Amino acid sequence: MVWVIRTFINPTFASLFVLGHTGRLLYSLGYFPGRFPVFLVGVTGHWTCVREAYRGVNLAKVCMIRTYKFRLYPTPPQEKKLLWTLDRCRFVYDALLERFSKKKIKQVDLQHFILEIKRKHPELCDAYSKVLQYENYRLFAHLRVLSGLKRKGMKVGKLRFKGKAWFKTFTYNQSGFKIIPRNTRYDLLHLSKIDKIPFIMHREIEGKIKQVTIKKHASGRWFAFVAAESTTKPLPARDEKAVGIDLGITNFVFDSDGHREDSPKILGKSLKRLRRAQKRLSRTKKGSRNREKQKRRVARVHEKIVDQRNDFLHKLSRGYAKTYTFIAVEALNIHGMIRSSFNARNIMDASWACFVRMLEYKAESAGTRVIKVDPRGTTQTCSACGRKEKKELSQRTHECECGFVMDRDFNSALEILKRAVGQGLPEFTPVETGPLPLGVSQSVKQEPSSKRFLTGSPVL
Ligand SMILES: [Zn+2]
Repeated sequence: MVWVIRTFINPTFASLFVLGHTGRLLYSLGYFPGRFPVFLVGVTGHWTCVREAYRGVNLAKVCMIRTYKFRLYPTPPQEKKLLWTLDRCRFVYDALLERFSKKKIKQVDLQHFILEIKRKHPELCDAYSKVLQYENYRLFAHLRVLSGLKRKGMKVGKLRFKGKAWFKTFTYNQSGFKIIPRNTRYDLLHLSKIDKIPFIMHREIEGKIKQVTIKKHASGRWFAFVAAESTTKPLPARDEKAVGIDLGITNFVFDSDGHREDSPKILGKSLKRLRRAQKRLSRTKKGSRNREKQKRRVARVHEKIVDQRNDFLHKLSRGYAKTYTFIAVEALNIHGMIRSSFNARNIMDASWACFVRMLEYKAESAGTRVIKVDPRGTTQTCSACGRKEKKELSQRTHECECGFVMDRDFNSALEILKRAVGQGLPEFTPVETGPLPLGVSQSVKQEPSSKRFLTGSPVL
């Protein structure tokens, strides 16, 4: 989700804030209406900070862009046309990249080059012109990412030409699309120069549609990502409620209120299907039709796993963002994660990172604050007295000299909350910072967790 916040401080001055999906401020522009943006305000921070900074200022228009995902059900001829458009976009992208690698030119100048390509390949006129133009934008967006990484001191290569299997999306920006709601099973998405494609609008789109991106998944399913800009409604006042969340392997989450959620062992069932499908794939002949078919089946199982995982994470993060006004989580070390090679571990890491991301953006729209704390030694530290107590991984209970006995993860959740509160937050009083005696919360089922920990590696 990208937030675009337009604030009108006084009639002659306005500013625009663009925030990333985590709520981090990407950039803000200050400009005088009727003129080109005159300066960039070098603010980096969080949407919450912007809101704080402009408290009392008349926020005439606060917009946000939300993306909705819909499954498309194209007919065979429609699918053919979609595939053709996708391939033509790839052709244009590669042609633009080739031109750019010969001589570095400005984005606007490269835009004119599309006309030249069209003259040479008149069949391109059968594709909506803005879809092709968007490829130029895409190319420069990629270049910006690369130079951003380079500035951070990372080793970057060059952009590569896109092969057939590598190009999956094309975009209708600003115009060329229309949603036609109907009272039958399928609604229609009209894409200019393609057709009216059936889809099911399973949720209402709020606001004005700005962009539609069409994506083909490896399994052969088609999706539309509809981005709509809407003005935010004032948030209802809620009781201040704080929570600390510990992310773990045995328990996916364990919070300072004593709730916990097991790691879903989704893979167990799907893994069997995946293995079977992959085995079948290996038996097929290379280049055969059956191989292509089987490849799609394998991709479908993979997508199913991703869907299941996302469903779990969405529901969990939504629950927290809705219930609490203040959430403390561990800051995850993303770079360290990629390096670890153990597969199940990688999946866990990815899920945690994904969970925190979802939590952040859902919190933004719910008016909840998410604070990330230093995760070092949260399991070792006693949340009651602060003493450090070395523990083995298998040791599931926290026992301190001060007499504080508690489930290991429960203790770290309390410690995480304590640290977040200690991070100098203004005007905030946590609901509960004192330690809870063991077994106070009904939702904690005390099981011999050490036993559970030993049985096999957890998979998600
Ligand atoms: Zn203690």
